[in-house]
Amino acid sequence: MVYGLVVVGAGIVGLTSAYHFVRCGGGRVLVIDANGGPAQGNTARSVGGFRMGLFTSRVNRIISETTVKFYLDVQKSGYDLGIHQLGYLILLDISKYEQYVERVRELLDAGTAILLSKDELKKRIGFIELDLDDEESRLLELRPIKGAIFSPQSGYLDVEKLAKFYYEKLVGAGVEFLFNTRVEKLRLAAVNKIGHPREPFAWQEKKIESVETSKGAIEAERFILAAGAWSQELLDPLGIDSYIKPKKRQIFASPARGRLESFFNVEGFNDFNSMPMTFIPRGPFVAPRIRERSLWMGLSDDIGRRWGLDFEAEDLFFYDNVYPLLRKIFPVIEGVRPQSKWAGCYSINTIDENPVAFRVMNLVVATGGSGSGVMKADSLGRIAAALALDQGEVELYGGVKVPSTLLGIKDRKIEPEMLVF
Ligand SMILES: Cc1cc2nc3c(=O)[nH]c(=O)nc-3n(C[C@H](O)[C@H](O)[C@H](O)COP(=O)(O)OP(=O)(O)OC[C@H]3O[C@@H](n4cnc5c(N)ncnc54)[C@H](O)[C@@H]3O)c2cc1C
Repeated sequence: MVYGLVVVGAGIVGLTSAYHFVRCGGGRVLVIDANGGPAQGNTARSVGGFRMGLFTSRVNRIISETTVKFYLDVQKSGYDLGIHQLGYLILLDISKYEQYVERVRELLDAGTAILLSKDELKKRIGFIELDLDDEESRLLELRPIKGAIFSPQSGYLDVEKLAKFYYEKLVGAGVEFLFNTRVEKLRLAAVNKIGHPREPFAWQEKKIESVETSKGAIEAERFILAAGAWSQELLDPLGIDSYIKPKKRQIFASPARGRLESFFNVEGFNDFNSMPMTFIPRGPFVAPRIRERSLWMGLSDDIGRRWGLDFEAEDLFFYDNVYPLLRKIFPVIEGVRPQSKWAGCYSINTIDENPVAFRVMNLVVATGGSGSGVMKADSLGRIAAALALDQGEVELYGGVKVPSTLLGIKDRKIEPEMLVF
């Protein structure tokens, strides 16, 4: 039996791709994953944070905001995705202030981001330390904070609930799932076979004929590779480059007890009386989780963190890198010992850190979510489905139309994102 589409990977990108393929009337679909259920790879390790009105790059804005609008409407329709719009707060020190304010001028003018002065920050957050001009601060290379950018519509969602939404819709639509099944190889074949044992030859037109799995070969007319941080493992043997590499990211969680409760007693940012998700550019972040009443902390390290798959969370990474800086800015963090920790891998596009979606033969590659794959997943899935269906144009949620080659590798025209933190 030949499937209309086989999707490799049941993470959020595989799920959205299958969902939109079926919605657009594709044929019989099978989703394969090495794990025992949907979204147990890096999607499960995500913070689920999303930005609304907080990207400077046009492409970033389009693919994230149409995605988040879809999620918000799903939640409005009565399906709980655990969305909490508690806002993003980006603290700016004196060395970054002018530069960042200039970068987000358009967002400030549009009103999707708000500039807060040091005095306003101090008034709203009694327990924050902004002066940071003592010796220890200098040693930690912290500089006095001059103000912040606040994005009130940003927030986070529950990735498990989001994945469940797509999964249930797919099961309801008759999509088949094969879990606990590793795809070992994408098998290449000649389009016009001549019956030679060594074909396909270099001169022959080629296609992916089947996937070889731990449970045997499965044939399909087309394939979507949505294997996230593992994608290149299946592409290397074919000589196809997605420009995606994995890099480890770690989260440390602590219940907000004792002095940490201060994070949930803050007025003026959101309806939850909570601190927004708070970021220090190129430094640590702290994200309050409303329902669990806990704090998630982390830091996306760059140079010095090797490329590669690695799922070991390191205590010392927290105590050497995250804790000293956060404790200095939020002294109530003093003495915190995370009760849980986990690590996952970003799938990073090494050209511009934006997702990639391109088609080679009858294979579509959709990955590269980096640290924003969840907030871009619905649009990425629509683009992948359109590529698989050979459609030149894609309608994203809300009616925005883009070419299906928007995230392609050749002729890629994606402006760099200026608001990185
Ligand atoms: C710590 C952390 C925090 C993050 N925070 C955020 C955030 O706040 N906001 C945001 O938007 N994004 C965030 N992200 C990024 C986001 O989680 C990812 O971009 C997104 O989940 C990627 O989805 P995916 O479907 O591409 O990959 P995955 O969820 O990893 O799915 C890929 C699937 O493919 C399967 N697979 C791989 N190879 C094979 C094979 N050979 N055979 C069978 N199955 C295979 C895997 O088992 C896996 O289930 C974060 C990521 C991490 C690691």
